[in-house]
Amino acid sequence: MNEIVARLMEDVKAKNPAEPEFHQAVQEVAESLEPVFERHPEYKSARILERVTEPERVVMFRVPWMDDRGGVQVNRGFRIEMNSAIGPYKGGLRFHPSVNLGILKFLAFEQVFKNSLTTLPMGGGKGGSDFDPKGKSDAEVMRFCQSFMSELQRHIGANTDVPAGDIGVGGREIGFLFGQYKRLANEFTGILTGKGLNWGGSLIRPEATGYGAVYFAQEMMQTRGESLDGKDCLVSGSGNVAQYAVEKLIELGARPVTLSDSNGYVYDAAGIDSEKLAFVMELKNVRRGRISEYAESFPGAVYVPADASLDHNPLWAHEASCAFPCATQNEISARDARTMIDNGVSVVSEGANMPTVTDGVRAFLEARILYGPGKAANAGGVAVSGLEMAQNSMRYAWQRDEVDGRLKTIMADIHTACVTTAERFGTPGNYVDGANIAGFLKVADSMLDQGLV
Ligand code: NDP
Repeated sequence: MNEIVARLMEDVKAKNPAEPEFHQAVQEVAESLEPVFERHPEYKSARILERVTEPERVVMFRVPWMDDRGGVQVNRGFRIEMNSAIGPYKGGLRFHPSVNLGILKFLAFEQVFKNSLTTLPMGGGKGGSDFDPKGKSDAEVMRFCQSFMSELQRHIGANTDVPAGDIGVGGREIGFLFGQYKRLANEFTGILTGKGLNWGGSLIRPEATGYGAVYFAQEMMQTRGESLDGKDCLVSGSGNVAQYAVEKLIELGARPVTLSDSNGYVYDAAGIDSEKLAFVMELKNVRRGRISEYAESFPGAVYVPADASLDHNPLWAHEASCAFPCATQNEISARDARTMIDNGVSVVSEGANMPTVTDGVRAFLEARILYGPGKAANAGGVAVSGLEMAQNSMRYAWQRDEVDGRLKTIMADIHTACVTTAERFGTPGNYVDGANIAGFLKVADSMLDQGLV
């Protein structure tokens, strides 16, 4: 670690104690930027790194709501407005009991560079709550969302800050949030993305993150003359991103063999086909059940419950060529990463944000496998959110093929930006450096242009 990075990390840790995920995200970006600072002293004197690690604004608020038995519940709500150098703050809302300030700051920080990579004019933000939608009735989720939005509405706007979904926030939650915003503001504007198709949503937005992660894998594989056809793929998660990654993998002739949720994972040696995927979508999006039911319905499949005492996740120990982590942060440990390499995984495309621990990332880079970090590989979701904003501004909706075509082009452009930037700064083939540097340069130059704000 060079002196600039060491000093920055000391400062970031002192100012943001007990936020290990935020430290992890900042350190990774800062290390990639070492050669940039050698070539561009102007960023050092303008203290761009110190400025991008400090959110422009953090809002934290109480969210009181009433459960179905008439009991009073209190959750905590957040919105991190991280950086608006290249556009309005943009990034999802996460509802999960693990949500805290540090996790949202890591996500908001990653979002700044990811959004810059998409080529669209979007700044970075993230928000959410420690509310757990699991096991809650639709009425409870609605009351929570209405209370959450009653405060959040003061801080967002179509030209200020445009949230979207993330873990625990899908079409149902976006609907309740949008309804409450419209009622309070008395205006119908594109203040959220991921909206329903009847009321301002974009075709392909639900599919975009999963599809995009698969398009990114395709782009990486083409550099080695390979394709996804016939490849076994490990997929984690079973929510929005995992479902559409699996859909696209099936379409391209690959064989997804795993899915998971927080209780465990299923391994299906015969492969997850379209019929089995339809079962998973109904299970997760309508019945809101557990992935263990998959193994009860498809006898060839095995269910393995999660074991928190292990330092690894046996899902990653199955033999396969490709891996698509699509659940949550730090779900691939250093041991998992080494096992994957030993078992022949040669492509990792991250649908989730920061799913691999720092030593796992190092192992992938040292093994020189095709490793697409989340901020590049999962940028398709926010990219189509950007397209949803464009359609809302025009009061017009594009056809499915038009949006999918634009998504493919954006993923190919992100891939090219990563490859050429990594080469230019001395680490060819390193998509981590490529993504961090390409994302950073546009934001840093815009900050220089706009003065000390
Ligand atoms: P969903 O809520 O739809 O699905 C999340 C999935 O991951 C569920 O299967 C969930 O299981 C599992 N999961 C969540 N937390 C944990 C945990 N702590 N341990 C084990 N499993 C867990 O979310 P998304 O699919 O939208 O998001 C998945 C990932 O993709 C996240 O990292 C998110 O930040 C990232 N992402 C999402 C984008 C989007 O457009 N939605 C865009 C870019 C990135 P369970 O139901 O049991 O909790």
